[in-house]
Amino acid sequence: MGAFELMGGEYEQVVYNHDHVSGLKAIIAIHSTVLGPALGGTRFYPYATEDDALRDVLRLARGMSYKAAAAGLDLGGGKAVIIGDPKRIKTEALLRAHGRFVESLGGRYITAEDIGTFSADMDMVARETRFVTGRSIVNGGGGDPSINTAYGVFRGMHAVAEELWQEHDLAGRHVVVQGAGKVGYELCRLLHEAGVRLTVADVDLDNVARAVADFGAETSDSSKVHAVACDIFAPCALGAVIDDDTLPELACAAVAGSANNVLARAEHGHALRELGILYAPDYVINAGGAIAIVGLEQLRWTPAEADVAVARIGDTLAEIYGRAAAEDVSTAAAADALAAARLGAAA
Ligand code: NAD
Repeated sequence: MGAFELMGGEYEQVVYNHDHVSGLKAIIAIHSTVLGPALGGTRFYPYATEDDALRDVLRLARGMSYKAAAAGLDLGGGKAVIIGDPKRIKTEALLRAHGRFVESLGGRYITAEDIGTFSADMDMVARETRFVTGRSIVNGGGGDPSINTAYGVFRGMHAVAEELWQEHDLAGRHVVVQGAGKVGYELCRLLHEAGVRLTVADVDLDNVARAVADFGAETSDSSKVHAVACDIFAPCALGAVIDDDTLPELACAAVAGSANNVLARAEHGHALRELGILYAPDYVINAGGAIAIVGLEQLRWTPAEADVAVARIGDTLAEIYGRAAAEDVSTAAAADALAAARLGAAA
């Protein structure tokens, strides 16, 4: 399928850049600027094919539009992907070339970190463009938004507990975290402090070892982690975790994590409902980083003010759960309706 067909009349712009000197091969997709400039991180990943990279950046960009809309932010949705293994090809020259690529869009797209990129990378990108968030605090940024994202997921889990068990407290619950990276590790820390039993899986065994050492987490094989019996399964790695193969093997009461595009296809939201598994729509529960970035870097919030704003994710989720029950639809469909209504009204 070609790019225009994949864009399906829904996206504003897709731009490619190949910088021969640094080896940068990147794609930026802008889904919508109806609510404001398109915010979305840069994913640095060794995609098997260009087609995989294009499909990923398109799905992620759409998710960012819905995330901003559902969170009430005046931002649109976009995303960037850099094709390649960051551990092998990431250099200053490549990151600066990416910064020039972002700058070339004149502010229609604002970048940040995502899988494979960090605050220090955004500091480098910022040498070439103003349109970057998530820089380190010493360089005038709001710091790593993964911390805020994890806090939002944590507060979202409280809303899950209230919906399922009519209690706010997570102590004694068992949470399985898939991916102990930037968000997953911080989420484990918050859950550990809250008295939660943890199981962790990651393809990076150093990250598993860190969670075991720091939080006494149990471990699981990463290919079967979705099937571990638990209260909450928290996908915090790649997307499309809930698909035709994993659905029948799920043994959790809820799915609530930071990963984008958790559902392989939209109908899997309905399938979760049929199974009696409560789903926290991904772009709602993982909006903490986006919410905090705007406040910390543009509105000069203090970290405490950012936490208060991020904690409202729990209220948004509760509203979505209420709507889903009242309208007899899946929580994913209720979230989509909320986001689409705001986008539609603004358009
Ligand atoms: P990260 O790269 O720091 O961490 C991802 C972790 O997942 C890594 O430790 C990696 O080894 C692991 N992983 C990869 N494939 C795996 C697999 N098959 N099984 C188990 N583990 C696997 O990325 P991150 O910034 O922590 O983001 C995690 C997820 O949350 C991503 O989907 C990202 O798009 C999403 N997200 C992140 C933020 C943020 O602020 N960083 C915001 C919103 C959404």
